[in-house]
Amino acid sequence: MPQMFQSSLEFARAQDATDTLRSYRNEFFFPEHNGHDAIYFCGNSLGLQPRNVSKYIQQELDDWAKFGVEGHFQAKNPWFSYHHFFTERLAALVGAQKDEVVVMNTLSVNVHLLMASFYRPSGKRTKIIMEAGAFPSDMYIVETQVRMHGLDPKEHIIEVAPRPGAYLIEDQDILDTIHATGDSLALVIWGGVNYYTGQYFDLRAITAAAHEVGAYAGFDLAHAAGNLPLELHNWDVDFAAWCSYKYLNSGPGAAGGVFVHERHGNNPSLLRLAGWWGNDEKTRFRMEKGFIPQQGAASWQMSNAPVFNMVAQLASLDIFSRAGLTALRSKSLTLTAYLHFLLMSLPEGKFEVITPAAPEKRGAQLSLLFNVKGREVFKALSEKGIIADWREPNVIRIAPAPLYNSFEDCYRFYEVLKSVLN
Ligand SMILES: *Cc1c(COP(=O)(O)O)cnc(C)c1O
Repeated sequence: MPQMFQSSLEFARAQDATDTLRSYRNEFFFPEHNGHDAIYFCGNSLGLQPRNVSKYIQQELDDWAKFGVEGHFQAKNPWFSYHHFFTERLAALVGAQKDEVVVMNTLSVNVHLLMASFYRPSGKRTKIIMEAGAFPSDMYIVETQVRMHGLDPKEHIIEVAPRPGAYLIEDQDILDTIHATGDSLALVIWGGVNYYTGQYFDLRAITAAAHEVGAYAGFDLAHAAGNLPLELHNWDVDFAAWCSYKYLNSGPGAAGGVFVHERHGNNPSLLRLAGWWGNDEKTRFRMEKGFIPQQGAASWQMSNAPVFNMVAQLASLDIFSRAGLTALRSKSLTLTAYLHFLLMSLPEGKFEVITPAAPEKRGAQLSLLFNVKGREVFKALSEKGIIADWREPNVIRIAPAPLYNSFEDCYRFYEVLKSVLN
């Protein structure tokens, strides 16, 4: 309802007053700037620390002190079963069955592990389709996976790019490329939300097109998990991976999440790079040869759970399950639309918002492309207590996270930007 928006502090505060999620803001620590809370718009890069995280960490420290090795079974959250404590709430967050998700490793490592299973070029079927302008880790992963198979990345990676002069990729161009590649296509690997433009892609349509030509579809959901409601199971996605330190607020370098559709997770003949933690739990401690994958995504686990790298995510999932992703998305749509409305009222010509204008094609991020002096603007914003994110070559990313950002944050940002631009 952008026509009902007003560019005033009173209006922003009135919106906050009726926001049913407003109290969640108090559950997070905000960095300070000159003795006041900074305006934090970087939840797409590193989410803020939930105030209850230290309690969760202390629990594990206490149990380690108290039980030593017995903590594997005696701890409040027994470490032997630690990854199980995430599945229910994480599955709800990404639209998966319980068996289809697991928390393990970190994002780039997980994409490699999943590609080891889902990119096995053979005969004619050797090509990978990905987005032009993917996050660098994704580019390096795909490039080196192709080379691991003795193939030439230039020949085997097909990038779909925006049309000349555009910043966003047309959905139809992705589908057309998939169909044109046909039976030489092995895998489509795509970002759920592009980190630079904030464009949210049609994961269901991409998956369906890949399946029509007999290929797999896998997604990097770094900027989608905890940001948009997903239905990975129903969309028939083959696999996905995400990090948990962006919208999921689990702390720097926190363990990532993985989705593997049950038709693959429950297929023991699909090859996995294996470790003991992926083995069937009943025979794990027999210490014998012969890997027997357990059911589901958990069979891709290699090592026992890195408890201290996972514990903050328990605190975070607790908040998400109380707030509810449907309510969060609903607030997010209005909050980002309000920010967009405010930005549109600034003088034209200094910057352009390259994120899709259609709310259903974006999450909680707007990318401002500056043709000149972007760096200077970013520096001036930082000096005034705005924590945003600079991406080379010329973009400032602003992410109003519905868990802890307010309409007043958006308004105050707009005021500061306006003064900086003058
Ligand atoms: C943040 C991000 C990563 C980071 O990968 P890590 O392995 O967690 O360091 C990878 N890919 C995308 C698309 C990202 O946005």
